[in-house]
Amino acid sequence: MDMSDSPEQVEFRAKARAWLEQNKPSNISDRGFALAIDDATVKALKDWQRRLYDAGYLGISWPVEYGGQGKTIVESAIFNEEVARVPAPLNELGLAMGGPTILEHGTEDQKRRYIRKILTCEEVWCQGFSEPASGSDMAALQTKAVIDGDHFVVNGQKVWTSIGHLSDWCMLLVRTDQNVPKHKGISYLLVDMHSPGITVQPLRQMTGEAEFNQMFFEDVRVPRANLLGPLNGGWGVALTTLMNERATLSLAIVMRFQNVFKDLSELARRVTREGSCKIDPRVIRQTLAQFHIDVESMKYLAYRNFSRFQRGGTPGPEGSISKLLWSELNQRMQEFAMVLQGPRAALTEGSSYAVDDGRWQYGLMRSRGNTIEEGTSEVQRGIIAERLLGLPKAY
Ligand SMILES: Cc1cc2nc3c(=O)[nH]c(=O)nc-3n(C[C@H](O)[C@H](O)[C@H](O)COP(=O)(O)OP(=O)(O)OC[C@H]3O[C@@H](n4cnc5c(N)ncnc54)[C@H](O)[C@@H]3O)c2cc1C
Repeated sequence: MDMSDSPEQVEFRAKARAWLEQNKPSNISDRGFALAIDDATVKALKDWQRRLYDAGYLGISWPVEYGGQGKTIVESAIFNEEVARVPAPLNELGLAMGGPTILEHGTEDQKRRYIRKILTCEEVWCQGFSEPASGSDMAALQTKAVIDGDHFVVNGQKVWTSIGHLSDWCMLLVRTDQNVPKHKGISYLLVDMHSPGITVQPLRQMTGEAEFNQMFFEDVRVPRANLLGPLNGGWGVALTTLMNERATLSLAIVMRFQNVFKDLSELARRVTREGSCKIDPRVIRQTLAQFHIDVESMKYLAYRNFSRFQRGGTPGPEGSISKLLWSELNQRMQEFAMVLQGPRAALTEGSSYAVDDGRWQYGLMRSRGNTIEEGTSEVQRGIIAERLLGLPKAY
């Protein structure tokens, strides 16, 4: 595995970095769509993604005929690293999950209909997998779709749908056959969120944001042409979405963590200099050294996953190791930022004496969800045990 850039890749990286430096938006927060509470913010986010697309930096490895740039996944990974350095938010659910799944399983008409608008952010996507009684056990889902002429008629409830309230389209898992083993009766629909019969209700989380929603489907008519993959074959299609979610962004996540580590080290220096931190400096040094080792391990693991991905085409279960590592490391780093702040850790965003305007307090609260979203840590350990180590299934 040689992860050094070729001369052309060096040039591509330098050009992308310079473009991002000159064009990075000053009017949007890196929390992105999760914090978008008004139309102006949503418009600013969409405009930003559109500018990236027009500059040739989105869909880098996707086919030209559907709106992509037709380059390799190496250029795509380089750009993901550079954009994570900025950082600047995008509709990741469309770009990292919806798009790759449609490219792999979609019909020609579906690819032509959806891919370009995912890239330009003309259409924002959400993921409707989880239900009140079906999270980790995704195959237990109960939202039902019945065929009626040229349509499916969908009834049921989804929950924890990130940015459902802002979305135009949803990757929706539904049960289309009740009489077969649960994995075999699921279908994957592309659902227009503006269809009659869909109600979206926000759920507020402890950060104060309402990034999540619960969604109710009441006799929602979805054209049969919006079935992605085979009827009752939605389980395999959903796995493509989840594998892409866990694997393709791992290099970009490393870059984000390098940024967090840099800022955390700077915070440690600052509070030590000011004398406001009463922790033994040797403990601070050891803790930071361990975080550095963890971030470097993540980097090499991401490289390894990436080169496998490059050889094999689709991401595999190795993404679970990265997911487990980054989600737990983020919680440890955010918790250490609290320790460094001492009593000031109690001051959150908006208080005049809050350290770094409460960014670490927000980060700590948001990081709790990291070990749940995209599959919990326990579930990732199960995948690693069964699918990578070949251990017997746990009951
Ligand atoms: C920030 C965030 C964003 C999210 N965004 C979305 C979204 O956009 N779309 C969407 O569909 N969902 C989304 N989710 C939901 C997420 O996918 C589920 O919360 C997750 O899959 C866990 O399901 P659950 O909450 O039902 O917990 P459960 O599955 O009920 O799990 C409860 C506990 O049991 C443990 N457990 C369950 N099964 C096993 C097992 N086999 N072995 C060992 N332990 C087990 C779990 O680890 C957990 O500790 C989001 C969640 C979060 C936190």
